[in-house]
Amino acid sequence: MTQDINEPTQRSKTENIKQFATKIGFADCKVTRASNRPKSEKFYADWISQNNHGEMSYLVKHAPLKTNPKQILPNAKSIILTTLNYYQPRINQGNNGQIARYANGRDYHKVFKKKLTELDKKLNDLFPNAQTRFFADSGPLLERDYATNANLGYIGKNTMLITPKYGSWVLIGEIIIDQELEYDSFNQLEHGVCGTCTRCISVCPTKALKSDYTIDAKLCISYLTIENKGPIPIELRPLMGDWVFGCDLCQEICPHNFRQKPSTEPNFNQAIAGSQIDLQEILSMQTEEQFVARFAGSPIMRAKLRGLQRNACVVAGNLKRKDLLPILTQLQQSEDILIAEHADWAVQEIQKITN
Ligand code: SF4
Repeated sequence: MTQDINEPTQRSKTENIKQFATKIGFADCKVTRASNRPKSEKFYADWISQNNHGEMSYLVKHAPLKTNPKQILPNAKSIILTTLNYYQPRINQGNNGQIARYANGRDYHKVFKKKLTELDKKLNDLFPNAQTRFFADSGPLLERDYATNANLGYIGKNTMLITPKYGSWVLIGEIIIDQELEYDSFNQLEHGVCGTCTRCISVCPTKALKSDYTIDAKLCISYLTIENKGPIPIELRPLMGDWVFGCDLCQEICPHNFRQKPSTEPNFNQAIAGSQIDLQEILSMQTEEQFVARFAGSPIMRAKLRGLQRNACVVAGNLKRKDLLPILTQLQQSEDILIAEHADWAVQEIQKITN
């Protein structure tokens, strides 16, 4: 059977997908074969077995799926990888808690999901009977590896995907599809390298990053302030500095990130949490309703009021905020032992300089 010359080819369909992806606001879009094994397959298994994931038990649960898209979509042929630039300039408003840039505006899962839904509809137009599955960050796939396979960037010693246009200030999302497409492949010449640079390793206050391109998540400030639901280890508290939710230090220091460009995505530009947070406001919140009213739609919701107040106590102690002693003293009496203990620690830290 001969092909109708008017029928779009695999190449033109792939091009069409990529053009549509950038039209709806993705920074980049490339495609890799679903059957290409991710480079860090063994590495990831070792990382989990060494308990580097801390309390993130979902990573253990997802482990069998992470390296095999066919476990997610049985007839998976291709993975369409997209990136979204989230960089925001930091507005320094003084002696308060800092928020990682990705969490300044609306929750990126929601933003990504909306865009991936649009892209998925486009795929359904191009391949009417296609089966697809899509994920944004939360997906059970080693997405940075697949993004590297697709030539979107390379993975640096800070364990981030570093892209040629936006550095590591990108989020990754993907669609798995049961259709053959035209594939990209990794080309080192299009990317930088870390080489002898170790800036991110040196700047990390908790020494979470290792020179072998790995991270001990249990030491990472992002993990400690978001995923960790219990007490923050006492020896790590002074090292958290003023980070109240997440941390950008290993990205801010990276020479590849001097090419950053502010995101044009309106959902990231309209600050919900903003880049700094008023510690007094957080420590004074008394109900989940107040917390939800302030942070609905923001990634901050992940920490819950309890986690955010715990973090705010640590930052108040680190910043020696004497003006917060009255509210911290009240929190020392909290029925929640987690809050009471962190408030107690903060009071003692502040009193070290006042006594
Ligand atoms: Fe690589 Fe240096 Fe960037 Fe770290 S700071 S990711 S070592 S280039």
